Amino acid sequence: MQALRALPSVDALLGTDGGRGLTERHGRAAATDALRGALASLRAAIRHGEIPPADPEAAVLAAAGAQLDAAALSPLRPVLNLTGTILHTNLGRALLAEAAIEAATLAMREAVALEYDLASGARGERDDHLLRLLVELTGAEDATVVNNNAAAVLLALNTLGAGREAIVSRGELIEIGGAFRMPDIMARAGVILREVGTTNRTHERDYRAAFGPQTGLILKVHTSNYRIEGFTAEVAAPRLAALAREAGVPLLNDLGSGSLVDLARFGLRREPTVAEAVAEGADVVTFSGDKLLGGPQAGFLVGRREAIAAINRNPMKRALRLDKIRIAALEATLRLFRDPDRLTERLPTLRSLARLQPEIAAQADRLAPRAAAALARLGVTVTVCACESQVGSGALPTDTLPSAGLRLDAPGDGTAPERLATRLRGVSRPIIGRIAEGALILDLRALTDEDALIASLVEAGRP
Ligand SMILES: *Cc1c(COP(=O)(O)O)cnc(C)c1O
Repeated sequence: MQALRALPSVDALLGTDGGRGLTERHGRAAATDALRGALASLRAAIRHGEIPPADPEAAVLAAAGAQLDAAALSPLRPVLNLTGTILHTNLGRALLAEAAIEAATLAMREAVALEYDLASGARGERDDHLLRLLVELTGAEDATVVNNNAAAVLLALNTLGAGREAIVSRGELIEIGGAFRMPDIMARAGVILREVGTTNRTHERDYRAAFGPQTGLILKVHTSNYRIEGFTAEVAAPRLAALAREAGVPLLNDLGSGSLVDLARFGLRREPTVAEAVAEGADVVTFSGDKLLGGPQAGFLVGRREAIAAINRNPMKRALRLDKIRIAALEATLRLFRDPDRLTERLPTLRSLARLQPEIAAQADRLAPRAAAALARLGVTVTVCACESQVGSGALPTDTLPSAGLRLDAPGDGTAPERLATRLRGVSRPIIGRIAEGALILDLRALTDEDALIASLVEAGRP
């Protein structure tokens, strides 16, 4: 066939300006593969009777280029989190403060005095940078930090109770999304689970009845992602601390999200702060760096000097430690908590959580016509809707925050919202919403860059 014979060879294509451009951007092997693939598709199309393009060389180069560009998009590229869940674990939880981003960037680019004491020129401790701030902000005697809160719990359990029993209420044996299940962590930490009480009610006498020579510690766990309501009883932390002293063992309090400030000042439900948990007498309190704290992934352990010293001596600590980048980002994040009045300006997580519904609704009103124009070709109708956001990551699980968003109604059958959602996820800066009531809802609470949203909608609306 004349048209097939007229197609250029892979070698000829690689020798053109366009081909050389592909090689420069993507490497010779990938460019060759993509050109071979694009040529094969065109050949097959011609054999099926399709009309060959006027300029086959340009067509093959364009097809190969598009395929290579798509493959080169990082799966970790920024997405727009319009799910309404602010701390979305699958979308990387907290967005960091500018100060933290700057500190992390500097630490990546330059050598830093990570384990080096600048005054004496002698070896220093890598956690010292954070320690002073943590002590100041929590009132604890000492502190240390590891990879995440799961690691903090594992390390604390292993240090304080290996080979002995950890007494814990049945109502607190939690599973946090994915692989964090308290009984499994306890087993891996080498402690023996001693559950006491019942699912809904646990009393002091239940703990006391479990005391014995095998008792290693008492564990209290924040039931982050669920709430037991109705006929319930639990032993408050100060009483647990007294019980632990009676038994001569430490009290470990896993706060989960843990907040350094009273969330009530941002219109959220009051949660015990880390400082309160410390003041209530726990020997060690553990909490996350990337939940309500709004920093990078990390796990903090704060508490009594001897307990933290023992934790630091545990050889597992070395396997769970942080690198300079995250330490730099954490230090900058913690520093912001010295000035709680300006936290909502500086910390994106709290900024999003503190936004008031009327402000978000005004934003939705402003954006709706532009969104409608961008998606007009798809026949999608855009209306402003009220919706409910949530904190996420197991923090304040039963609380929602009144919010506003764009409701996208796509024409077609029941699968239309799913197909629209797929289309919005397929653009260079994917939009991630949630499907509810047969429509795709874009909750605007976490939106900071309005132009980015419109640009993504315009891209999604193109043929
Ligand atoms: C989230 C959570 C954890 C795990 O923390 P990560 O930082 O995700 O490792 C452990 N315990 C509780 C109570 C939690 O809420």
